[in-house]
Amino acid sequence: MLERPGNEDDTVILPPPPAAKPHRRSVLYAGVGGAAALLAVAGYSTFRWFRRPKPIPMGTATEANIDNTQPCDIIVTYLALDKKVVVLDFPSLLSQGLMLDRVAAFVEKANVPHNRVLDDVALNAAITASGDTISDYYYGHDYQAVALARFFALAEAENIRLNSQELWLKQLLKQLGWMSPDTNGAIITVPAAGGPITPEMRAVILRHEISHGAFYTVPEYRHYTEQFWYGLTLSDREAFTNFLGRQGYDTNLTELMLNETQAYLIFTRDPRFFNAAAIGKTEAEVNQLRQGFIANMPDFWLTPLATEALPPVPAFMPACKPTQAMLATRHKRLCLCYQRSGFDCV
Ligand SMILES: [Zn+2]
Repeated sequence: MLERPGNEDDTVILPPPPAAKPHRRSVLYAGVGGAAALLAVAGYSTFRWFRRPKPIPMGTATEANIDNTQPCDIIVTYLALDKKVVVLDFPSLLSQGLMLDRVAAFVEKANVPHNRVLDDVALNAAITASGDTISDYYYGHDYQAVALARFFALAEAENIRLNSQELWLKQLLKQLGWMSPDTNGAIITVPAAGGPITPEMRAVILRHEISHGAFYTVPEYRHYTEQFWYGLTLSDREAFTNFLGRQGYDTNLTELMLNETQAYLIFTRDPRFFNAAAIGKTEAEVNQLRQGFIANMPDFWLTPLATEALPPVPAFMPACKPTQAMLATRHKRLCLCYQRSGFDCV
């Protein structure tokens, strides 16, 4: 269901109760009246309570916890390594895209404006022009809290109609207290295994996005990444920029270029997503760049992940939740989510 921006507040404004008549009452009358007033107040409070969206449940999860999950609904967790990073684990690429594609266009996609929010028609045209679909505009997303707050403020100011998934995200930001411009926080996302996403790819996506979380929330790391970027040769910067341009990132955004460079070069060790040939280099040259980056990295929670292997993806999910069904093949066992059409890997 679509709602108008500005009409999604979590409280309902009721007209004030009528003023009490200024005449004298007996004690009994006053008592009955008082009780009625109390009931009215209680009813009003209850009404408000029912109308208020339920708080979105949140836990805390490690990288391995998330890799070992197969969500049927969106799961929201604080990243155990840094609770300023909140992870949204989506049941499908489609549900992820519906919530975040408009934000992606606003923040960092190529060939779209970044000073205004696209309406549905413009967003769909941008996605189609890029050769993508809602589902695969991105496989994973990452946004600084301030960018999200700016997105929602502009969407409201411009009267852009947001979808229910986007309004849910707005509710989450309010719940986190992240709508102010001085918040230090980040949201990163990962889709469930299914369709083109294997469990191994899901783990690769998560590690990539975790590095963005660190970039946004740890100023020393952001500063270090900037230094690394400007320490590269011009041709190396161009090689990364050209690679990122082919992926659909807006190459005019230097901070985006250097942020993605650290994420692909150091934290995306899967040739399907990034390899030496993608930037016109040999494996030896890329390894040299990696070693240079890692050798001087500030020592904090992300540092071990620069060299650690990804958490093992379980070949077998030991058990599925009651809302899920098991798909067992010779090599894998996955928990599938129930859809209207039946159980599906969505
Ligand atoms: Zn990235």
